[in-house]
Amino acid sequence: MDFVKDSANQTPIVDTVFAIVELAKQAKKEHGEDAVTDATIGSFYTEDGKLCCMNVVYDTLKHLDNPQMAAYAVSFTGNPDFKQDVLDWVLAGHSHLYKEVIATPGGTGAVGMTIESTLDPGETLIVPEIAWGSYNLMAQMNGLKTLPYSLFKDGHFDLDSFKEACQSVMKTQKRIVAIINDPCHNPTGYSLSLDEWKSVVDFLNECSRTHPVILLNDIAYIDFARDKNEARKYFELFDDFSRNVAVVVAFSISKSMTSYGLRTGAAIILCKDEAGAKQLKTVFEKTARATWSNVNNGAMHMFSTIMEERLDEYEQERAAAAGLLEERASLFLKEAEEAGLSHYPYKEGFFVTLDMDNETRDKVHQALMDELIFTVKVNKGIRVAVCSLPLEKIHGLPARIKAVIDQCEA
Ligand code: PLP
Repeated sequence: MDFVKDSANQTPIVDTVFAIVELAKQAKKEHGEDAVTDATIGSFYTEDGKLCCMNVVYDTLKHLDNPQMAAYAVSFTGNPDFKQDVLDWVLAGHSHLYKEVIATPGGTGAVGMTIESTLDPGETLIVPEIAWGSYNLMAQMNGLKTLPYSLFKDGHFDLDSFKEACQSVMKTQKRIVAIINDPCHNPTGYSLSLDEWKSVVDFLNECSRTHPVILLNDIAYIDFARDKNEARKYFELFDDFSRNVAVVVAFSISKSMTSYGLRTGAAIILCKDEAGAKQLKTVFEKTARATWSNVNNGAMHMFSTIMEERLDEYEQERAAAAGLLEERASLFLKEAEEAGLSHYPYKEGFFVTLDMDNETRDKVHQALMDELIFTVKVNKGIRVAVCSLPLEKIHGLPARIKAVIDQCEA
């Protein structure tokens, strides 16, 4: 038997996160909750160890009329009020480019659609070296290669590596597509400074003299930045992009509204020219129609109702959650410094990642599990999900991890 197309990659997905989450669950059953540190879960949890579900979100959702939840969306690109509310919330007046919005099933839909629509099979997608695993999977599913750029040099964004990756791809293909997952990069928690973003904009403008450029800016965690207003200022710099650069901002309500399962987000297209934005929109709309057809109507109504009628309540809950995340991360970083535990530069976001080569990582990851500390392996590091760890579990954790690393190195 041979049921799938010849070009399909048949190697099963190895879901390393899921496997470790299961091991952590097992350990909790065996040794009790208190004995186990489960730093695997990549969703925001409350201090009492439960999935955080913002009240305003679920209260609004449950008060929608049945037809609002039952009906198809008004259009394949999403409901008009949802699209406007997304623009207002995400860009907050910081962009003066031409804009189009396509509702998508989560940030995944926005990222996947962009990758699928902008590169031809055999071409190369530029990705961060340490990254959300789905970028590589999406590239693979579309018959693309990936070229990673290193993220850091001397504790800052490695602009030289980013430039080298773009320049190298420009030699072999007519268009470049580069992903920058910022702010609150998954999994390091880095956010580019305004100066760093300015350098990226200047450089991509140079590239755009000879090649159309698509910057895919994945902002999945933006609403958990230390200051959500500061975190949006860099959008203003995009105003300086030339006509030959398009930005697709991939927005998701999964984190912003603690609604991972509602599968709603948006691709925001930003372009100097209407024609450029419309070209992408035409293709995105057809991709949407051909794959998911239209997006969860109830979730779009919920988002719009909150934005238009319950913004203050939402802001309070969001700010409280982001504040708690900051408290957890600060505690981890402070104790990491005291213990001499090394990690990638962290500013904000769900995860802190310990930096090490992959061989050391494998040893340390297992040794941590032997001590009932469960983490997730990423390329060149170990991810610690401070988003789901209560403060009391973070207390003392960096020193315990450092002791395990020292033992592995002894
Ligand atoms: N981008 C990054 C970096 C992520 O970590 C995730 C989810 O974990 C997403 C995008 C997409 O999330 P969703 O499809 O749930 O919106």
